[in-house]
Amino acid sequence: MGGAATNRSGPVPVGGDGSPPAPDPTEQAHGAHGRAREPAGTNGEDSILQFLAARGISRRAFLRFCGAMAAALALPAGYGPQIAKALSTAPRIPLVWLEGQDCAGNTEGFLRASHPTVAELVLDTLSLNYHETIMAPAGRAAEKSLSDTITASPGQYIAVVEGAVPVAEDGTYCLIAGRTFRSMVEEVCGKALLTITVGTCAFDGGLPAASGGPTGAAGVAAIVPGAKVVNLPGCPMNVQNLTATIVHYLTFGALPATDSLGRPYFAYGQLLHDQCERRAHFDAGEYVLSWGDEGSRKGWCLYKMGCKGPETFANCPTVRFNDRTSWPVKAGHGCVGCTMPRFWDQMSPFYRRLSNPPGFAVDVTADQIGLGLVGAVAALSVAHGTVSYVRARRAGDHEAAGESGPVPTIVLPEPGEPGAGAPPTSPPGASGGGEVS
Ligand code: SF4
Repeated sequence: MGGAATNRSGPVPVGGDGSPPAPDPTEQAHGAHGRAREPAGTNGEDSILQFLAARGISRRAFLRFCGAMAAALALPAGYGPQIAKALSTAPRIPLVWLEGQDCAGNTEGFLRASHPTVAELVLDTLSLNYHETIMAPAGRAAEKSLSDTITASPGQYIAVVEGAVPVAEDGTYCLIAGRTFRSMVEEVCGKALLTITVGTCAFDGGLPAASGGPTGAAGVAAIVPGAKVVNLPGCPMNVQNLTATIVHYLTFGALPATDSLGRPYFAYGQLLHDQCERRAHFDAGEYVLSWGDEGSRKGWCLYKMGCKGPETFANCPTVRFNDRTSWPVKAGHGCVGCTMPRFWDQMSPFYRRLSNPPGFAVDVTADQIGLGLVGAVAALSVAHGTVSYVRARRAGDHEAAGESGPVPTIVLPEPGEPGAGAPPTSPPGASGGGEVS
């Protein structure tokens, strides 16, 4: 993707042990956007503790949440109190949530978080000024909520984007209030303090960008290349990762460190295969061979049923979904690799076993596999004409590309460029001992 979907501010400096940057005293005193943070208990209704107490959430539960956030961010346990202090004194930052070409699955995930503090913490720490699906205002009043936020708080609000951005036909595949979604994203994200994309569609175009899609769907970072963007891909993203990203920003005044695709390491830094509860069965050569067979009933490995866990970077096995109840592999279905670039093309057919999966060793990184996958997608896309479309736009041949406007930089590598070619095929130091033929 040529770095199109990266955190344009560059990775946040971290120590060799993955520790976050030391809190900036200036940021602590004045907040990341210039508004003074007031001591806990002196900020009236803005105190998150008061908000939570009003909802029956105790201080103990809040501190437990902060400890869980420290764990989610892979921070030492000692950071729990620091997170609690930061959150309880944080100013309320405005947040706007845009939806484009999407299924609202990330909104659903956000709303259905049943942990008593997750969604409420975000809602009460931030000021959710605009969200088309759940906001009370409608019509012009809703539009005013968005424009007022942009006008009143330029550079001081967080933008969350769900859904892809269509650019073909001058962006007319997605219009909101008579305006293209593309122009909304350019304005809102271009003026935001930071942008968080939720779900795979906002990450790299997702399903609308899959082969054969006519809308020219792109991810947000490709549309607003100068914006500070962190990506939380997934179909849907895990709401705990969104919460942890915001908590990290409120605590340290900086986004968490990311890989070259703008995905936070705390959530996308490890192979799913290495965290999977069925891994012991993979190593033992115990596989499900057909749905409902003995191996299926015994919870054996789903590799031969098409599981993409060996090529996928995500923390699904540890954070799970539905209040940490379960996740697809636990429920008996293989991973489809939805956090990986262009997964609809690259990871399908979803029930076909991976051949020569990379990543059976600790020294294979998300970046290496991500670039390899993108390279493979480029090869696939040539057959489907997608790359021809991108190349035509690169060359400024908008007529050939079937549209007008600047090139949306979903930049797939050309043959011979870094990242092109097939994924790694020979996992160094494979730890898996299972029979995989
Ligand atoms: S192949 Fe899939 S089911 Fe098997 S151990 Fe890896 S992630 Fe788990």
